[in-house]
Amino acid sequence: MTKRTTSVAMTSATEKELASLLVRDDGQEDICLATYRPSTGLTRDSALIAEAVPPEAGDRYVNRNATVTAEYILRGVAIAQRKGCGLVFLHSHPGASNWQFMSVPDRDAESSYANLARELTGLPLVGMTLATGTMTWSARHWNIGKGRQVDCTHSSSVRVVGNRFAISWNDVLRPQPQPNRRQLRTVSAWGEQCQADLVRRRVLVVGAGSVGLDVVVRLAASGLCHITVMDFDVVQPHNLDRLIGARPRDARLKRPKTYVAQREGRGAATAEDPKIEVSDLSICEPEGMKLALDHDLVFSCVDRPWPRAVLNALAYTDLIPVIDGGIGIDTFADGRMRNAIWRSHVIRPMRPCMSCNRQLDLAQVIPDRQGIFEDPKYIENADLSVVPASQNVAPLSVSVAAGLFSQYVSFSVAPSGLGDPGPLHYSLNTHNLDHLEHTTLPHCAIEQAIGVGDQRLDLTGRHNKAEQLRQFTRFPDHATRLLRWIDDRNQMLSVWLDRLSK
Ligand SMILES: [Zn+2]
Repeated sequence: MTKRTTSVAMTSATEKELASLLVRDDGQEDICLATYRPSTGLTRDSALIAEAVPPEAGDRYVNRNATVTAEYILRGVAIAQRKGCGLVFLHSHPGASNWQFMSVPDRDAESSYANLARELTGLPLVGMTLATGTMTWSARHWNIGKGRQVDCTHSSSVRVVGNRFAISWNDVLRPQPQPNRRQLRTVSAWGEQCQADLVRRRVLVVGAGSVGLDVVVRLAASGLCHITVMDFDVVQPHNLDRLIGARPRDARLKRPKTYVAQREGRGAATAEDPKIEVSDLSICEPEGMKLALDHDLVFSCVDRPWPRAVLNALAYTDLIPVIDGGIGIDTFADGRMRNAIWRSHVIRPMRPCMSCNRQLDLAQVIPDRQGIFEDPKYIENADLSVVPASQNVAPLSVSVAAGLFSQYVSFSVAPSGLGDPGPLHYSLNTHNLDHLEHTTLPHCAIEQAIGVGDQRLDLTGRHNKAEQLRQFTRFPDHATRLLRWIDDRNQMLSVWLDRLSK
C-alpha cells in the first residue's frame, strides 16, 4: 500500500496576509492562527488554508519567543468548527532559511493543542513555520495516534498559487535531485535552484493525444521525476498523422494512448529514476479526480467539455493550477483553410476560469456527460457549431504544446520576475499574438469556490465511454495478446540498451 503524504496549499493573497502577521519589524518570533479545509486525494492529504484568524490584544505574548493564550486557541477552534474547517497554528523563525523541523519548545506548544483541535473540529491540527530569511514555509499534520498520544506527519511541500507557482519543499521527504550531465543545457536556462523545484513537482497530464503526448515527452526530457498520464482512449489508425511517436503496430495492438506516452516519455527522460505512471481512468470519474488531487500541477490536453469543466473547477476548489489550451481550425465551405487560432492560459485563483475566458461552453457539459456527442445520428443532424471541434494537424499541434509550455515556464520560472501572462490568443492567418482582456466575472460561481476542497460541488460521475474503452484495451483477443507479449519483450530489450548507454 502506498504511504499517505501530506501537503499544504494557499493562494498568494493568503500567504501575504499570514506573512504580515508573522514577520515583525522588531525581528522577534510571532504566532497566529488560521483555518483550513481538507482536500483528500488517493494518497495525499492537503490542507487548503481558508482564512487567517489574527490575534487580538492580549491573545499572545512576545518576548523573543512567542506564546499564546488558551482563549485565542479556543476562539480559533470555534471559528474553524463553525465553518466546517480545521485549525492551523503558525509561527515564525526570524532570519531562518529553508524547510524548518521542530525544536523541543515548538513540538511542546503544538502537541499541547493538537488533541483539543482535533477533538473539536474533527480534523487534525496543522502546524506551520515561516522561515523569514528565505520566506520558506514548512508544515506538519498532527494526524497520528489517539487522545493525548498525538504525533505529527511532516508534510512534503507547501504550495503557494499566485502570479508565480512557488513551492517550499521538505528536502528529507522530497530530496533535491542533483542535475546530471544530460540536463546541463536545461539548468543553464534557469539555474540549479529553479531546476530543483521544477523536477520535484508531481505533474498530471490529462489527455495523451497529439498535444498531451508531446507535453509528456518534453516534461520528461526536462528532468521531471514524477509524471502521470491519464487517458482511457486507444491508438487508432486515424491518430497516426498527429500522434508523433505512435507506430502502426500500436494501432494494430490496440495500445492505450497512455502506453505510447509512457514509452516515449521514458525514452526521453533525463532524471535518474523517472516515474512515468499511467492511468486509464477519466478525470470525470470520482477515482480519476482523486488521483488528480495527488498532483501539484495539471496540463489539460483534452478538448471535451465535461473533462475540461472538471479541471476548470479543480483549479479553484483544490488550488491545483491547470495549464490549458486548444486549437480551432476554421475552413471555408469548399474545404480550404480560413484560419487557425490557438490559445493558452493558466487556470488559477485571480485569473478568469475557462468559462469566463470563453474557452469552455458550460451548456455543452450536460450533453457531453450524456454521451450525446458520441452519437453519430446526433452529429449528423446537429448544427456543427454546437458540437465540440476536435480536428488538429501535426504541424500545428506543436504550436498548442508550445503555447502551454510558454505559460508553464512563465508561471513556474517567472523570467525577470514576471509570472503567468494571462490568457493568450494566436491567430495563424495574420500571425498576431494577443493578450485577451477577459477578467474574472464577479458572479462566477467557479471562481468563488476557492480552496473549498472536499466541500466542492462534485462534477464527476459514471463515464460510459471510458468504461467501454477500458474493456476493449484491458481484455484484448488472443492474437492481440500474443503480439503484445512479443512487442513487450522487444520493448524491454530497448529499455535495457538505453540504460547501458547512460
Ligand atoms: Zn469564471
